[in-house]
Amino acid sequence: MAAPGVAIRGQRSLLRQIREALAGGGPAQVRLDMVVRIIARSMVAEVCSLYMRRAAADMELFATEGLDPAAVHVTRMKPGEGLVGEIMKLGRPLNLADAPEHPAFSYRPETGEDPYHAFLGVPLLRGGRAIGVLVVQNRTARVYTDDEVEDLQIVAMVLAEMVAAGELGAHELKGVEIAPHKPERLKGSKFGDGLAYGVAVLHEPPVAPSQLLSDDVVAEEARLNAAVDSLQSQIDTMLEGNAGLVDASFEVLETYRMFAHSDGWNRSLVDAVRNGLTAEAAVERVRSEHRARLGQARDPYLRERLHDLEDLNDRLLRHLSGEGHVARDLPENAILIARNLGPADLLEYDRTKLRGLLLEEGSAASHAAIVARALDIPCVGRLAGLRDAVSEGDMVIVDAEAGEAYLRPRTDVVKAIQARIDVRRQRRAEFAKLRDTPAFTRDGAKITLLMNAGLDVDLDILGETGAEGIGLFRTEFQFMVAEEMPRFNAQTALYRRVMDAAGDLPVTFRTLDLGGDKVLPYMEAEREDNPALGWRAIRMGLDRPALLRLQLRALIAASGGRPLRVMFPLVANVDEYRAARALVDVEVAWAERRGRKPPSRLDVGAMIEAPSLVFHLDALLPMTDFVSVGTNDLMQYLFAADRGNPRVAERYDPLSPPALRALEQIQRACAETGTPVSVCGEMAGRPLEAFALVALGFERLSMPPAGVGPVKQMVLSCDREAARRGVSALLKSGAGTVRNEIETLARKIYAAV
Ligand code: PEP
Ligand code: MG
Repeated sequence: MAAPGVAIRGQRSLLRQIREALAGGGPAQVRLDMVVRIIARSMVAEVCSLYMRRAAADMELFATEGLDPAAVHVTRMKPGEGLVGEIMKLGRPLNLADAPEHPAFSYRPETGEDPYHAFLGVPLLRGGRAIGVLVVQNRTARVYTDDEVEDLQIVAMVLAEMVAAGELGAHELKGVEIAPHKPERLKGSKFGDGLAYGVAVLHEPPVAPSQLLSDDVVAEEARLNAAVDSLQSQIDTMLEGNAGLVDASFEVLETYRMFAHSDGWNRSLVDAVRNGLTAEAAVERVRSEHRARLGQARDPYLRERLHDLEDLNDRLLRHLSGEGHVARDLPENAILIARNLGPADLLEYDRTKLRGLLLEEGSAASHAAIVARALDIPCVGRLAGLRDAVSEGDMVIVDAEAGEAYLRPRTDVVKAIQARIDVRRQRRAEFAKLRDTPAFTRDGAKITLLMNAGLDVDLDILGETGAEGIGLFRTEFQFMVAEEMPRFNAQTALYRRVMDAAGDLPVTFRTLDLGGDKVLPYMEAEREDNPALGWRAIRMGLDRPALLRLQLRALIAASGGRPLRVMFPLVANVDEYRAARALVDVEVAWAERRGRKPPSRLDVGAMIEAPSLVFHLDALLPMTDFVSVGTNDLMQYLFAADRGNPRVAERYDPLSPPALRALEQIQRACAETGTPVSVCGEMAGRPLEAFALVALGFERLSMPPAGVGPVKQMVLSCDREAARRGVSALLKSGAGTVRNEIETLARKIYAAV
C-alpha cells in the first residue's frame, strides 16, 4: 500500500480530474466515458463501469472502460438481479475475489466480462438511495483493500452529487432516475387537519456539490476534529446533567455518546476528509452509508439507532457551521419534510409561507403535531420511507383529511385536491360568516365555544375564529420553545399579552404541564421507565414549589387587577389540588402585602385527566371554581394506552361506552354541584365527538382554532334533546365502539334541519 500522504494526494487529484471531466463541455456520454477511464487508470483496474438507475428501478450500463462498448445502454439489471442489482438493493459495497462464484452473479455475454474475477462495486448513494453503481474489475482474483473500497465510495459520492446536481445536463441523461420521479402515494396518520399542495422543502437539505472538495486537507481535518471535540464535550456535558442544549432522554444521550466517541464513526469521517472531502461532505458520506446499511435492518432497535446517528450527524453539521439552526428562505408554498421535529424547529420557519408538514415519524400527540395544529398547518406523520422518496423541490400534497401524502402527483390528482381545497375554503368562508353568530342548538341550548392556545401566534387568530375566549392556555409551550428557562419578566410579559389580546374574553391559564413527553431542553431530566405515569405536571409543580409559585406570581402580576382564571394539570388526588390551591392564596397574599393589585376575580380549577378524580368528584368539586376535562390524557389513562405511542395511541375510541360513561359521570356531578365544566381535549374540536359531548350535556368546549367553525356549524344544526336521547341509549351498548351509531344519529339529526 502506498504511504498515506501519497494516497491522499492521488485521491484528491483523482476527484479533481473527475470533477473537471464532468463539468467540462461536450456530450454527457463522452464525459462519462472519460470519467470511467480516469477511474480505471487511477485504480489500476482493467474494467471500470458505471450503471445508472432508470425508471422502473433498472440499472443500466451507462459507460464502461474495459467491457464491450456495445453493451452500453443495452445491459440492464433489475433490483436484486446480478451483482449490480444486489448492490443497488443492499445499498452497500460488494468486494469479491472471484465474482462468478457469487450466487447473485448473472452472466451477460454481451459485456464480454468472462476473464475478470476480482470485483468491487459500490452504490452511488443519495439520501440513502442508490441512484447508480460504480464497478471496478480485475482479471486476477483478489480482494480489494479497505482503502480501495473507501476510495471508490468517495468517488461514487462525488459522482452521485454531481450527477444529481445536473452537472451533466438533465436532458442528456434522459430516463435516469436520479431522484424518484414517479408519482407516489404514502399512507400515514393524521396529525393536523387540512389539505395543502406545495413544494417540498427538506428540513435537512443535502450538501451542495460545490462544497464537496476541500482545498486544504490538513486544515479541513483540523476543522473536523474541532467540531467532533466540541460535539463530544457537549454530549458529555448533557449527560452529566449540566445545562444541556438539546432535548433528549438519558438513553438516547447514552447512545449518542457511544456513537460520538466510537472509533468507527470518527475514523470513517477522518478517512473521508483525508481523501479530499470537506468535513460536511464527509458527514454526508458516512451518513449515506449508515442509512443504506441500517435502513435495511428489520430490527426496530437497529433502525432506531439509525435515527440517533442521523441526529448526531445533524448536530455535527451544526457544530461545523459554528452556529445553530439558520432560518431558511422558503418558497411561497412550502411543505416541510422531516423525519421528526421539535416544536422550536417548526417555529423557526416563516409561518406565512409554510403550507404543510410531512413527517416520517412522530405521533399525533407529539409537540410538533400540537404546534402544527395550533398554527393550523395540515400535517401528516408516520409516513414510512418518506425522506428517501422525496427530493427538495418536488411537488407534494398533504392530505391530512385522509392521513396521506402524494409525492409528485399527477395532474388529475392535483386537480382533485385543488377542488377539495376550494371546497374547504368555501366552507371556511361559511364558518367565517358564522363568526358572530352565537352557538345555540336548535332547541335553544347555548354552547360556549372556546379556543386552545399556547403561543403568541395564536392570539392573532382569536378574533378570526369567533371563539368566546381561551379555554386552555398551555403555558408550557413558552418553556418548550425557549433556549433557556423563561424568567419572571418573560412569563409576565406573555401572560399580559394574552390577556390584552383577549380583552374582555376569559382566558384560562393552565400552570406548567411539563414532564411526560414534554421535556425541556435546558432542564435536567431524570430517566423514567414510564414518563407518562411519571413525574409530570402538578406533581412536578408541587415538588418544585418555587417554579410553580414563580409562575403564579407572574400570572397575578400580569392580571394587574383584572380577572384571573388558573387551573392545574393532571391532578390525581384531592390533596394535590388543595396544596396547589393554597399556593395561589399564598401568592395573592404576597402581592397584596407589596401593595400590588390582586386579581379582581380569581377562579381556580382543576383539570380532570386522571381517572382517580372521576371517583372523587364529590370531594373535589366543592373546592373548585370550575373544572376542565382533558380528554387527551383522560383517555390515555382510562385505556392504559400511551397517547404518544403510535402503536397504541389510536387503538381505543373516545366514542365508546366506557369513555362516554366516564364523561357523563363528570358532567352529571358538575351539573349537580353547579360547577362550570368544559372539555378541552382535542376531541372537543371534532364535530362528531363534539356532538356526543353536547349530547352528554357539556356546554363549554375548548378546541384548536380550526375546530371552532365546524363545531359551531354542528351545534347550530343540532337538536340537543334528540341527541341526548340517542347517545344515552348508546351508553348501555355492549359494543367496543359506538362511533358508527353516533354518526348515524348525528346524520339523522342534521338531515332533519
Ligand atoms: C388533555 O390532556 O386533554 C389536555 C388538554 O392537555 P394536554 O393535551 O396539553 O396534555
Ligand atoms: Mg393533558
